[in-house]
Amino acid sequence: MTGYCRDIIEAGRRLYLRGLVAGREGNISVRLPQGHILITPRGLSKGFLQEGDLVIIDTEGRVVSGDREPSSEWRMHVAAYRYRPDVGAVVHAHPPLATAFSVARGKLPLEGLPEVLLVMGPVASVPYAPPGTEELAQKLLPFWKRHDAFLLCNHGALTLGKDLEEALYRMEVLEQCASIMFYASLLQRICPLEEREKLKGGGDEGCASP
Ligand SMILES: [Zn+2]
Repeated sequence: MTGYCRDIIEAGRRLYLRGLVAGREGNISVRLPQGHILITPRGLSKGFLQEGDLVIIDTEGRVVSGDREPSSEWRMHVAAYRYRPDVGAVVHAHPPLATAFSVARGKLPLEGLPEVLLVMGPVASVPYAPPGTEELAQKLLPFWKRHDAFLLCNHGALTLGKDLEEALYRMEVLEQCASIMFYASLLQRICPLEEREKLKGGGDEGCASP
């Protein structure tokens, strides 16, 4: 088994065990050295993949190697690699709370979590298009250059990374942020940091307002 296959199988297991995908949801890909794309197949649980399930496609989505059909979201993956030469891996999942924000059409207010903003940057809110369509790939076009994490309205989330570990890490952190913001919203109080607080790198005033 190649390292790339092993990494995708392990990533699928992590997504499944963390509840970031359910049923047959989600898809994962990596860019191979010769420019082809190794991607998960259509219609299988990501928690129990085997090497023979994975598919290699070219940059037009044509199957180069493998017995199965590639993920129905292959257009989204191909576009990510086309517009972001620095990207080596793409993860798409339906994390429950991040997806809830996408259904609510709300932005994730990461201003309250400066460390996250630093490592992930802003999260794009991508207008709705049906899953698996060219239309969805088109809706992503304006966002590729400036984002590594995306909320797909009424659908789920997408993350990019220089390698699979980074793309997966961003997906996990995205869901963690959505969870924190969800709980903060229950407390009916989300306080973004003031500019002076960001600059100071921590303060001793405590969290409560004066
Ligand atoms: Zn999806």
